[in-house]
Amino acid sequence: MNRVGFGIDLHPLVSGRPLVLGGVTLDSDLGLTGHSDADVLTHAIGEALLGALALGDLGRHFPDTDPRYRGISSLVLLRHVMELVVARGARLVNVDATVLAQAPRLSPRLGEMEKRLADVLGVPFEMVSVKAKSPEGLGLLGRREGIAAMAVVSVEVP
Ligand code: MG
Repeated sequence: MNRVGFGIDLHPLVSGRPLVLGGVTLDSDLGLTGHSDADVLTHAIGEALLGALALGDLGRHFPDTDPRYRGISSLVLLRHVMELVVARGARLVNVDATVLAQAPRLSPRLGEMEKRLADVLGVPFEMVSVKAKSPEGLGLLGRREGIAAMAVVSVEVP
């Protein structure tokens, strides 16, 4: 059986934090803040994977009240999510994600993000798509108050 999952995430941008997206650290005057490294792209993909199997959300599996997850790389969380997927005999087919960020320009680094994510997800590089979209100066994203990401995944379940 084929199933799809959808994930969305949004974190605030602040000064004095690194900007990590898809496990890749980018040159930026502002970074995302949160309990973990606040990698919105990786979180959106994790939420989509959990959603495909109706396993709840990331907050349920990795509560932000748990000190074990403070400052943790979100790739570690994604690896845990993937273990849940594999434990159910499910197979991830592909991921398609979009990051909504006013700055910095992400297009030169998207391939690196895809590679990093594909490694953690254990799927071929060409099965992971990461796109970038500018909010064109509009709203909280355009004012660089935060960065958002959305993802869909396709999963085969026995
Ligand atoms: Mg998050």
